[in-house]
Amino acid sequence: MTESISAGSDATVQEIVARVRAVIGQESGFVPLHEPEFHGEEWALVKDCIDSGWVSSVGKYVDQFETEIARISGAKYGVAVVNGTAALEICLKVVGVEREDEVLMPSLTFVATANAASHLGAVPHFIDCSYKTLGLSAEALELRLAQIAELRPEGTFNLETGRRISAIVPMHAFGVPVDIDDILAVAERYNIPVIEDAAESLGSTYKGKPCGGLGRIGAISFNGNKILTTGGGGAIVTNDEALAKRAKHLTTTAKIPHKWAFEHDEIGYNYRMPNINAALGVAQLRQLNVRLEQKQNLFSKYVAAFAGCEAARVFEAPDHTSSNNWLIALILDASEIVSRDAVLTALNDAGYMSRPIWNLLHRQKIYEACPHGDLSVCEDLEKRIINVPSSAKLGANS
Ligand SMILES: *Cc1c(COP(=O)(O)O)cnc(C)c1O
Repeated sequence: MTESISAGSDATVQEIVARVRAVIGQESGFVPLHEPEFHGEEWALVKDCIDSGWVSSVGKYVDQFETEIARISGAKYGVAVVNGTAALEICLKVVGVEREDEVLMPSLTFVATANAASHLGAVPHFIDCSYKTLGLSAEALELRLAQIAELRPEGTFNLETGRRISAIVPMHAFGVPVDIDDILAVAERYNIPVIEDAAESLGSTYKGKPCGGLGRIGAISFNGNKILTTGGGGAIVTNDEALAKRAKHLTTTAKIPHKWAFEHDEIGYNYRMPNINAALGVAQLRQLNVRLEQKQNLFSKYVAAFAGCEAARVFEAPDHTSSNNWLIALILDASEIVSRDAVLTALNDAGYMSRPIWNLLHRQKIYEACPHGDLSVCEDLEKRIINVPSSAKLGANS
């Protein structure tokens, strides 16, 4: 037994559990990290699909969902697809990512960001994060490009690997917007398109503008654990008409419109969102504002409960942004890194589902051979982040 350490961290552990309890209350059951919620017309709209027979790949809810998601994202066009990973893959494809290209992205992200690039035969190239946003650091991006990149007429190339760098994919972690203006400025200098992984950030804004519509094209997820859900689903949003049309075409088997002929002009995908899922989505989107308010309220309660806590603070989004508070994150003080697993154990044992961030991608077996820059910030953050229960309903009625 290492008694001095366990005594010290035990006080920390008890204090953090007590502060979380002050937010959520003494629960008899288990409080999930993030629950899907259905408080609107979901039942009626899904029933309408079943009653009418329009359950599959075409139907009015797909069209409505696409119109609405574009509007909410501040983009002109929306394309509904089967999930956020497929949305990302098509975003990368339509901006021109090809086999053997490199795609710059944070190491601190869910594995789908890298998988989407890999499915196209491209290679993820990992860049560090910012302490201010938890997302891709514009400074680290600029530094890395200065080290390795050469701008040529046919594209920007990584001189170390010889590969073309054909996209940058910032991800708004837990709904916290990245510093997109600075990232776009670097990207523009190197003539590389920016694709937003906005999977987690529906409803978040940067300088008043919605996430998803900030880059060339963006991907949103409607998986069951996100702020809104279609069961499973995703959306592509963009202001670029040509990209939107190509995305719609590719995700619907690349069929040339015709009354009866099955002529396909490229090898497409069957990635369209079924109407029955879109019906759920239409009902869910109408609840976004209430969801955002409840989550903001929950976030404020966590901030108040952790005021004066030396062991951990609640991560707060930068001033010029508003986060959708998808997942609320505690940041352990550097001196409390040793307590992380004990805190996680105690919170989960107390019934408050909590978890660390994803294993960094550059340390995953499947991606450890990929190129990367200095990753010291995300390696530090990995040891200090704990996500705590964040469902919107926990912030309701007060
Ligand atoms: C959820 C998520 C995705 C993928 O979305 P799915 O709908 O689950 O395929 C992609 N990137 C990030 C950062 C996510 O959190």
